[in-house]
Amino acid sequence: MRDLNAIGRIGIGNHGSVTRLVFSIKELRSRQVLIHLMRQAGLQIHIDAIGNIFGRLEGSDPKAPAVLAGSHLDTVIHGGKYDGPVGVLGALEAVRTIHENKVAVRAPIEVVCFVGEESSRFGFSTLGSSLVAGEVQAKDLTNAVDSQGTKLADVLAGLGISSRHLPSLARNPKTVKAYLELHIEQGPILEAIGKKIGLVTSIAAPSRFKAIFSGQADHSGTTPMEMRKDALVAAAKLIEYVETICRKYSPMAKGRVVGTVGAMKIEPGVINAVPGRAELSIDIRSTSAKSKERVARLVKQRAAAIARSRRVGVEILDIRSEDPVPLDKRLLRLTQELCDRKQIDYEIMPSGAGHDAMQIAKIAPAGMIFIPSRRGISHNPLEWSDPDDIALGAQLLMETMIRVANESL
Ligand SMILES: [Zn+2]
Repeated sequence: MRDLNAIGRIGIGNHGSVTRLVFSIKELRSRQVLIHLMRQAGLQIHIDAIGNIFGRLEGSDPKAPAVLAGSHLDTVIHGGKYDGPVGVLGALEAVRTIHENKVAVRAPIEVVCFVGEESSRFGFSTLGSSLVAGEVQAKDLTNAVDSQGTKLADVLAGLGISSRHLPSLARNPKTVKAYLELHIEQGPILEAIGKKIGLVTSIAAPSRFKAIFSGQADHSGTTPMEMRKDALVAAAKLIEYVETICRKYSPMAKGRVVGTVGAMKIEPGVINAVPGRAELSIDIRSTSAKSKERVARLVKQRAAAIARSRRVGVEILDIRSEDPVPLDKRLLRLTQELCDRKQIDYEIMPSGAGHDAMQIAKIAPAGMIFIPSRRGISHNPLEWSDPDDIALGAQLLMETMIRVANESL
């Protein structure tokens, strides 16, 4: 909790909100503090080109593939202090405890902090872990630009990473035995059913795209209603459709799809002008790839139909589309067994939010442990998790790490 609070003070603003956007001064500072803590814990530190940090504790077999555990330290704008740091510092505390108690481990253990898990700055999520998994192609970076107009590709170039270097950031899968991530649930389910631990089966993945309506910016006083080409009214119809279609796909049997229009830009964006341009950022998620793709396709078709009927233009810009990711069944069974033995009441559940684990799952067995979030609130200064739950989660994480390090999966 001391470390968690120390990291939580970096980027703190009004009402306890925390803002550490990827590659900002605050985010870099949080990484420095982590490196310091890892050094104090006696870990061997390796930092890759993008800035992912690996703090390694050797086991008795230095040649064995490592057990990785961690999460991220970057945050959304005005977020909380638990999303990410709980997993990084939980893993660090687990390794410290293993070290202090001289618990024998065969495989090396690495505490990991991945860069840029949140998509808040560039609209690009799980950046560091995607690179480690070898999942980033140059074309994925094309539309990744922050609100200041800074291109992600340029930031990477500044770090010496040109598009042809992207594959070289991938980690050899043979060096990773497993990846474990402790995380706050960021949803209301565990609290509602009174359970302390969630064991994650699979991670829902987003399809993200922009719909940009272009009409005609006109004087709001002199342009008759029937002569307008209002881009925002067209956009408004699409926003409502996203909600309608996702409600239709909300039952588990239909794949449980959620969809959100979370950002919008209007031009000229003044009270006395008919909007000439409206840009919507749309996020569709599900643990069913089929349902998600179907809904995303329907939304795009509807955008075209609305544009036709209202005689405005529409352009669809794909940002990123990913498949839902199943997590490793053996790790799930192992965590289940540990919970049963310790008489911890757990829930087996999917994750609606994306996490670094969904990238690492592509190169190694990956597992996730959730702890409750008060009122399910996250990406908000009110985000809070009980210190006892954090401790319980870290304890379970540690015992899983030890078992995985010492046994064959
Ligand atoms: Zn997170």
